[in-house]
Amino acid sequence: MTKVVSRFAPSPTGFLHIGGARTALFSWLLARSMGGEFRLRIEDTDRERSTQEATDAIIDSMRWLGLAHDGEIVFQSERAARHNEVIDQLLASGHAYYCDCSKEAVDAMREKAMKEGRKPKYDGTCRDRGLTSGVVRLKAPQEGATGYKDLVKGFISVENTEMDDMILRRSDGTPTYNLAVVVDDHDMGVTHVLRGDDHVNNTPRQILIYRAMGWDVPEFGHVPMILGPDKKKLSKRHGALSVMEYEKMGYLPEAVTNYLARLGWSHGDQELFTMDEMVELFTPDGLGNSPSVFDLTKFEWVNGQYMQKADPDRLAGLLCDFLAREVGEDQAKAVSRAQFAKIAPLLQPRAKSLVDMLEQARPFIQDAASLAYDEAAVKKFLTGETKPLLTEIADRMAGLDEFTEAALEDLHRGFIEEKGIKFKAIAQPLRVAITGKTQSPGLFETMVVLGKDQTLARIGRAVEL
Ligand code: GLU
Repeated sequence: MTKVVSRFAPSPTGFLHIGGARTALFSWLLARSMGGEFRLRIEDTDRERSTQEATDAIIDSMRWLGLAHDGEIVFQSERAARHNEVIDQLLASGHAYYCDCSKEAVDAMREKAMKEGRKPKYDGTCRDRGLTSGVVRLKAPQEGATGYKDLVKGFISVENTEMDDMILRRSDGTPTYNLAVVVDDHDMGVTHVLRGDDHVNNTPRQILIYRAMGWDVPEFGHVPMILGPDKKKLSKRHGALSVMEYEKMGYLPEAVTNYLARLGWSHGDQELFTMDEMVELFTPDGLGNSPSVFDLTKFEWVNGQYMQKADPDRLAGLLCDFLAREVGEDQAKAVSRAQFAKIAPLLQPRAKSLVDMLEQARPFIQDAASLAYDEAAVKKFLTGETKPLLTEIADRMAGLDEFTEAALEDLHRGFIEEKGIKFKAIAQPLRVAITGKTQSPGLFETMVVLGKDQTLARIGRAVEL
């Protein structure tokens, strides 16, 4: 059996959006699940629209998602000579010919065909004229049909009478898109082409080129597009951003790949998959043939699940990076990774994203003097009545030798019994005093993470307020 080779072939005309990332992921999974190779080709032949920035963004996004490619990246623009060499071979073998029809003449042919109830197409006038210049067209078969079994859509067939003698080389000497894709896929040894179904009409045309060259035709699969909740083509207003935008929003890469995989691929009704599991379970049979609907709420949920499972030390490293982006490297150094690693487990059950976690971590990383207090919370809970309670409990805590959750719990239980008050009566004022807010992780675990000095300093400041 020949080795499976799949590829991702983006045009670097914009950032890698999630639709493109999903295509890349499926191709990557196909290769990895079959022990094959995954190649990356940048289709940068449109020099006006292609940018280095977009190329870099694609490469960065794929790296971040963990979609490593094998071998060197192929840049399509560097291969024009090879594309032209193949066109020359097709001319020499009689599978292609020159055509000098003007645009107006071709338009007239198309119009005529339409009037006669046929597909608008070039009528092959120049096939036997023996011209030696002009655009180069493929001599497409005029009988029969061209079909293939799509990995996603099943059998697809197009009558050859419906297909044009397509242009392979333009009058300015540049090879056309379909020709370039076929030559590159062939030369890269690609055996499986998975791509968006906006390319489904190109496939029978590309097969004609493979056949004319006598090359093996790869397997093709076309994945349906992603729709917004309103069933319209997915766009920015649906929350569909570029991959790196999700990184900035604090999503974890494994959550992104998991969610994207589930947009169009399924394995029973399982929702959460590690990359390894996906590699093990992926088959193209699991790819659905109807468009999937992007659901930001579910995406957030998936991310939350991975936030809960993540190693706190890894989250701590990421939180340091996020803080550094916000306040600069120097300022961010004031908070250590070790500090974040202590805080992270407290916040993991609730944080939806790294950005959210950093937000929730703020009360922990500020020092007592600069802690921001929520005004409404202060008014409600830091009152004349609670002041003596806070002062007294702080005095007692100061006397603790071991500042642990168990010790704090004992101390507080004793305190409320003695005073004949409910735990709530002391807990909320304390929470506001040490975090500035009415919501936080468990009171005692929060105190332990803050440490005795910070806890007491904060209560002290609250009492002054
Ligand atoms: N460059 C094409 C695109 O970005 C993909 C071509 C292909 O996958 O065959 O839509």
